[in-house]
Amino acid sequence: MSQADAATIAGLVAPLLREPSSSAIFSDLDGTLAPIVADPASASVPAETIEVLEALAERYPLVACVTGRRALEARGMVGLDTIVYAGNHGLELLEPRAAEPRPAPALGDGGDKARAFIAGLDGAALAADGLRLEDKGPIQAVHWRGAEDTSRARGAAERIAGAGEAVGLTPRWGRQVLELRPAVPVDKGSAVRDLVVEHGVELALFGGDDLTDVDAFDALADMVSAGTLRAGVRVGVDSPEAPPGIGERSDAVVDGPAGFLDVLRLLAGGG
Ligand SMILES: [Mg+2]
Repeated sequence: MSQADAATIAGLVAPLLREPSSSAIFSDLDGTLAPIVADPASASVPAETIEVLEALAERYPLVACVTGRRALEARGMVGLDTIVYAGNHGLELLEPRAAEPRPAPALGDGGDKARAFIAGLDGAALAADGLRLEDKGPIQAVHWRGAEDTSRARGAAERIAGAGEAVGLTPRWGRQVLELRPAVPVDKGSAVRDLVVEHGVELALFGGDDLTDVDAFDALADMVSAGTLRAGVRVGVDSPEAPPGIGERSDAVVDGPAGFLDVLRLLAGGG
């Protein structure tokens, strides 16, 4: 994937820099702020990235981390309570300084469906296939990063996805992870859309590295077409595992979390 040069990035962020009080900055967490590591539990956000986010929160009325992780877990990783965390791909929203996230209204009574489905699977068989489970409340995740036989693990995950779909759950595929979600119209795109409307911002930027981030890219593009936003900047974060949509549906591609940190520095008014 070819990466954008500095002049292209500077041109894209210039409108937000000119009007920070009307602008929002959205970012994915893993692979965008935090470098990808083999064990997601040991991923962390570099200290310099946290410093820049802190500066952004002072300058822009809306800075939000939009992630597949739970909102409280994301806040624990970033360590700032001055920004918004949209967790579980938008199913929960943690406001600055709030003690607990609130569920997305669209979730209704679908909160326990995925957990009940996973509880009915044979845990020993999953482990033998190299799969690890993660309980994310309304979303249940099946991971196989680090599995001995990745194609066996992926095959087993595909069978689980099929069985989950048969009981009305929605499978979402990420980087060596399958998530089973309640079938509600909530994703990173709807999370971004709701936050833009709620805060009344007119310019926004989203950075992300994975398939679920493309929903947010598309939401920005739709809001620009509809006139809700005057600018919607989509920054793809490249990696060896980047899905095709990252390059095709973004305005510019940067090289990993370090490349995205450079974008954030620009937005903070630094070089
Ligand atoms: Mg990511």
